[in-house]
Amino acid sequence: MGLIAGVLKETFPGERRVAIVPRVVELISKAGAELWIEPDAGAEAGFPDSEYASKGAHLAASAAQVLEKAGILLQVRPPAAGRLSRQHTVIAFCDPLNEPQISDEIAKSGATLFSMEFIPRITRAQSMDALSSMATVAGYKAVLLAANALPRMFPMLMTAAGTVPPARAFVMGAGVAGLQAISTARRLGAVVSAYDVRPAVKEQIESLGAKFVSMALDTANAEGAGGYAKAADEDFYRRQRELTASVLKDQDVVITTAAIPGRKAPVLITREMLTAMAPGSVIVDLAAERGGNCEATQPGETVVVEGVTVIGPLNLPSSVPYHASQMYARNVAALLKHLIKDGQLNIDLNDEITRETLVARDGAIVHPKVQQLLTAA
Ligand code: NAD
Repeated sequence: MGLIAGVLKETFPGERRVAIVPRVVELISKAGAELWIEPDAGAEAGFPDSEYASKGAHLAASAAQVLEKAGILLQVRPPAAGRLSRQHTVIAFCDPLNEPQISDEIAKSGATLFSMEFIPRITRAQSMDALSSMATVAGYKAVLLAANALPRMFPMLMTAAGTVPPARAFVMGAGVAGLQAISTARRLGAVVSAYDVRPAVKEQIESLGAKFVSMALDTANAEGAGGYAKAADEDFYRRQRELTASVLKDQDVVITTAAIPGRKAPVLITREMLTAMAPGSVIVDLAAERGGNCEATQPGETVVVEGVTVIGPLNLPSSVPYHASQMYARNVAALLKHLIKDGQLNIDLNDEITRETLVARDGAIVHPKVQQLLTAA
């Protein structure tokens, strides 16, 4: 019998995405697998069952039938370990660096686990880079949240009732999400400036029509492996906060995205720094999920502190579920195609993409970073 891939409806609270969308069903079959899908799996993302069926997917009677038939499960988030067994290979975002015990439980079920967070940032794997896809969606949506909360308009308007000056937006951390936030804020008409510790980003910020804010910080070694930032010491962050304070007072909107993989986000804005900001200004903290770049951030909530609205959104990509699912589905299908050879799953540990992405196999965690975290815990 050939390979069967299954898609279960996501069960995580508030999760509206789905791992495969109808237009990607054909890619799954070209990769060499038949697709079975739980009823309503794509409903919240805007993809009705009938569309999957018309693209050649099999509509299962229930989740139990998907779990029984499928060897491979394609998910946004992994199913609970209790639903899995040796028969299953799961491909999902499983947050292995922050919640390694989830991967450990799955390992103990006997299932094989690939984590989309671990797709290496190499050219060959670009089509699978789901973190970048989701960061793109988050960066876009962050600006819309800011615009919605701001008591001002973004664009400059010259009307018979007077001139409205453009909003001023400052983006801290110009990785994938930050660059998308810059573009989106520019499209809405804001005057945008940005900062990142990686010096290479200056040119990218300027090419989007934003101003790079110079800070007298030693960032010569700020870039680590895979294009990510390296963690700095507390002295560095203290100095950065001092320099940031003078930039903040001129802003209407601040979007923070600064992150270090596998670490708590650095605090770039203290509560005290909010007092210098204009009343009604807005901070959207995309690092909320990892503790936040702003000290006042409450993950998942909007708070007003010192007259500044501080928004700490969680799981923003899920709030744009149609396109977030479409992008994620392409990334997952590309990984699946990579893993299938001659109609069978081929776990080739000599291949960098396969090796780096594999978290659990044969009842055990096999990824060194996740093993270390579990041992340390
Ligand atoms: P991320 O989400 O880990 O971090 C977001 C940004 O915050 C990064 O740009 C980082 O430099 C910045 N940052 C960290 N500490 C900061 C501080 N104290 N102050 C200001 N900024 C700070 O990173 P990401 O967006 O996922 O990716 C970062 C970069 O990786 C991309 O911009 C790109 O250059 C590279 N990348 C490469 C590939 C590839 O080669 N295939 C794919 C995607 C991304």
